[in-house]
Amino acid sequence: RIVYVNGAFLPIETASIPVMDRGFLFGDGIYEVTALIEGHLADNEAHLRRLDRSLREIEIPNPHSQEKWTAIQQELVMRNGLTEGLIYIEVTRGVSERDFLSPADLKPTVVMFTQAKSVRANAALSKGADVITVPDLRWARRDIKSTSLLAQVLAKRAAAEAGASEAWMVEDGAVTEGASSTAFIVTQSGEIVSRPLSHAVLPGVTRRAILRLVDERNLTFVERTFTVEEALRAREAFFTSASTIVMPVVSIDGQPVGDGKPGPLALQLRELYIETVLGTR
Ligand code: PLP
Repeated sequence: RIVYVNGAFLPIETASIPVMDRGFLFGDGIYEVTALIEGHLADNEAHLRRLDRSLREIEIPNPHSQEKWTAIQQELVMRNGLTEGLIYIEVTRGVSERDFLSPADLKPTVVMFTQAKSVRANAALSKGADVITVPDLRWARRDIKSTSLLAQVLAKRAAAEAGASEAWMVEDGAVTEGASSTAFIVTQSGEIVSRPLSHAVLPGVTRRAILRLVDERNLTFVERTFTVEEALRAREAFFTSASTIVMPVVSIDGQPVGDGKPGPLALQLRELYIETVLGTR
């Protein structure tokens, strides 16, 4: 496997990051994940825009233009012979002696790698996802795609322990989002509900794309908070992310959602999204 580190394409075995990298020491960095579906980069411009925004919010200079980022991604995909999977980008504030404050002229560290994975065909789809709920332990700027992911790591561990594949995080009685996804419900009246964007959640790129598809179809999308109880009374529930696209939720904390089977609207939105990425509709 070939990875990208600060301008060089290297075998993963020989690539390394200095001990004093602030990403390692402080989680002082941001990341982005784009899916490659049958050779097509899914929503990559939006991912690169969010990368730029995350960097701006924590005052790390963006080392590359959108065009340059895309060229590096494409070269990495080519060098790895990847047709389907994920492209991970991480940018940290850089390398300096450990101190909370860093020199003004620090050069950001850039790391990029690919992960081969079936994105379109997902073994979990036929059954749907079991979800647990956990308290949202994260900080107050979740709109920044920070590499400080301790709360999400703990949430995913709790999910795995309970035999679930995702954790929905709850704050003040309402679902904020999944540990690595945006949470949606479909109410009994057919409204598609997801939380409004704010500092409380990551602005999901897939969420935005789904919102557009919903709009085109004259379905009703309502941006508001919802509770776990409401999700359990919903007709359907699902979550979205670059890596899972749209994943139906069939249970929450061991209780069935709807009829306990993957929801038809979730599956339809998933197919529409894939067709949009592939340019076949
Ligand atoms: N919310 C969180 C906390 C995430 O980590 C992710 C993706 O990893 C998402 C939402 C979904 O975002 P996207 O659709 O841009 O992948």
